[in-house]
Amino acid sequence: MIELSQIGKRWPGAAVAALSDVDLTVGEGELVALLGPSGCGKSTTLRLIAGLDRPSAGRIAIAGRDVTEAPPEARGVAMVFQNYALFPHLSVRDNILFGMQVRRAPKAEQAARLAEAAALLGLSELLDRKPSALSGGQQQRVALGRAVVARRPILLMDEPLSNLDALLRQEMRRELRALQRKLGLTVVFVTHDQAEAMSMADRVVLMQAGRIVQQDAPADLYARPRCAFAARFIGAPAMNLLPLEPGPAGQVAAGTGFAPGAPPGAALFGVRPEALRPAARGLPATVEALEYLGAETLAVCRVGASPLSVRFPGADAPPPGTTLALGWDPADAHFFGPDDQRVEAATPAPFKEIASR
Ligand code: ADP
Ligand code: MG
Repeated sequence: MIELSQIGKRWPGAAVAALSDVDLTVGEGELVALLGPSGCGKSTTLRLIAGLDRPSAGRIAIAGRDVTEAPPEARGVAMVFQNYALFPHLSVRDNILFGMQVRRAPKAEQAARLAEAAALLGLSELLDRKPSALSGGQQQRVALGRAVVARRPILLMDEPLSNLDALLRQEMRRELRALQRKLGLTVVFVTHDQAEAMSMADRVVLMQAGRIVQQDAPADLYARPRCAFAARFIGAPAMNLLPLEPGPAGQVAAGTGFAPGAPPGAALFGVRPEALRPAARGLPATVEALEYLGAETLAVCRVGASPLSVRFPGADAPPPGTTLALGWDPADAHFFGPDDQRVEAATPAPFKEIASR
């Protein structure tokens, strides 16, 4: 449906490229999240797809047609921005129908599409209100309504939920996803919130400094980050990453003498807080503080000079001062080289003994 090939973008006067070598294919009916820290090029990518800016290099195709030089209106895309871009002096009805009115679409068609979109979005009772009399979530839905009546097969959304409070955001995530499936929309969604990307997207495209570093289904991105950046960025609390140093028998976790089974070339050992369990023998860690989170407690430990978090269900965690030996399933160990890239463990970790808890 959308195909970006070798896209580069350099803003006039900028010292570094905003985008380099971006290859991205979005299938019909797919919801793809562009995820990454502020300034990594997410909005730029979206604006290039929309036709609001032109790439410095590469080609863009939509539905099999090269649209690299095509204007926005010739691309069949609708766009929803973070600030919704609603007209404050217009009613919900006129905000939703704005585009159709400008195009002078037949009145009967406008009424039919409005009724359909309003029912779908739960806005039927609110059509006479002005945006100032709506909650953030309702405003969001009006912005979506505008995209829905336009019947564009592709919806581009730039941080559409970031103005909402946490509870509403979760509700809108589900609503958006349901709507996208119902309408069969192809959606490219920009967010800096990994939880949002992971919970909504069919595929997450992780970006760093203008490049795509990994694109995978959420579960694959979580299970097998291709670089330490992806390992750090995906998951909350973040994956623990411990530096390795040479020991008597291979690489050991720095300051411990304990070998986590690192393959040659590894510089970092990664393990998620939920993968760690107290074991008969294992990585030595001293509990320094507890963070009680309700459903779980995070024990913030020290391993050598590095911090390391261990997740315990409920409130049942060892008190500060306790020294633990930590084990994990060998499949849960991740290793990264000095270049940040994943290094596969050739042999299983040296022990499998894991105490039940
Ligand atoms: P993100 O949406 O991931 O936060 P952006 O795509 O907005 O990042 O920005 C990527 C880079 O391009 C940043 O360094 C930003 O300052 C720069 N940039 C974005 N838009 C413009 C513009 N219109 N003119 C010049 N530089 C821009
Ligand atoms: Mg942005």
